[in-house]
Amino acid sequence: MANPRVGIIGAGQLGRMMALAGYPLCVDCHFLDTARDAPGGQVGPIRVAALDDADALRALASEVDVLTFDIENVPIEGLEQVAGQVPVYPQPQVLAAAQDRLAEKRLFRELGIPTAAFVPVDDESDLDRAAETLGWPVVLKRQRLGYDGRGQRVAEDSASLARGWRELEEVPAIAEQWVNFERELSLIAVRGAGGATLFYPLSENVHGDGQLVSTVAPYQDEDLTRTAERWLDKLMRRYGYRGVLTVEFFHTDEGLLANEFAPRVHNSGHWTIEGAETSQFENHLRAILGWPLGETAPRGHAAMVNVLGELPDRARVLAMRGVHFHDYGKQARPKRKLGHCTIVDTDRDRLLGRLAPLRATIGASNR
Ligand code: AMP
Repeated sequence: MANPRVGIIGAGQLGRMMALAGYPLCVDCHFLDTARDAPGGQVGPIRVAALDDADALRALASEVDVLTFDIENVPIEGLEQVAGQVPVYPQPQVLAAAQDRLAEKRLFRELGIPTAAFVPVDDESDLDRAAETLGWPVVLKRQRLGYDGRGQRVAEDSASLARGWRELEEVPAIAEQWVNFERELSLIAVRGAGGATLFYPLSENVHGDGQLVSTVAPYQDEDLTRTAERWLDKLMRRYGYRGVLTVEFFHTDEGLLANEFAPRVHNSGHWTIEGAETSQFENHLRAILGWPLGETAPRGHAAMVNVLGELPDRARVLAMRGVHFHDYGKQARPKRKLGHCTIVDTDRDRLLGRLAPLRATIGASNR
């Protein structure tokens, strides 16, 4: 019997880790990306073309059983066209909602999932109204193509809001109320054929300059977990979802506010490779191939630290007891995600004690 084949649009580190999770199961991953040296292309065959190149998409679709993606900025029209040729999971409609911050926030509201207050901004005259409605500071975000804190500005007054709007090139945006959160949490779910759904535990995330720096999981809070699970379930049912889905939350003294969702595997779930019974990457493959899902239970407590901008001394990191180092094979560039490290421990306090020197070692090289 031929090996199952999965086409992945985008060959970043997420695609690479999906392909690596596929190896033991004999799942062959084939990539489409604009760069030949992309991380996924180092572990599986890659076709180099624009992500909306109709011929390249058709050719990729013709050689696989199912198509998925590892980035959100995949043009929807191309995906919809090949969806007639081969199943595309997660479904292009849900990707379309995730690509547009206004559609995303409206979807959350429609499903009864609380968010920060927001005001759409289409032209400069909307800025004053936004500030009046939301109060200061205001977080201005591009509606489309923003990620990892890019495409957003925090404004303290009218002058800085107007400046932020110009810096974001006066494209459609949303203004959000500043949220004084206690912590940031995310929940990752996987939904398979027939609607089987499993959840990983909540993860606690620390960001710097809008970018994920580290994650510790599980964040144990029964009530928050049940609430967040109910919301993700609603969101996934809405689309008959297949695959892994992540929602990022702010935890405030009034409960959870949804910030954004990603219809894909997520950086805050990298700890699941060593820290859960089945990794988010393997479960994404299982879900889109229509296979039974794997257990999502954690194997104790896990911490993940991102390697940003510059690789640390490899020997030094590998000399740290129990540290798992993942190098994505990327060229160094300021703030670029180049890899991550994970530690797992049966005891949370001991894990946090071990995390400090790891953070210091990695943090010293993060640029
Ligand atoms: P985002 O691109 O929306 O995920 O934002 C990146 C990070 O910026 C978040 O993880 C938060 O740390 C911070 N952030 C975004 N929106 C807000 C907000 N409305 N209030 C406070 N911090 C925010």
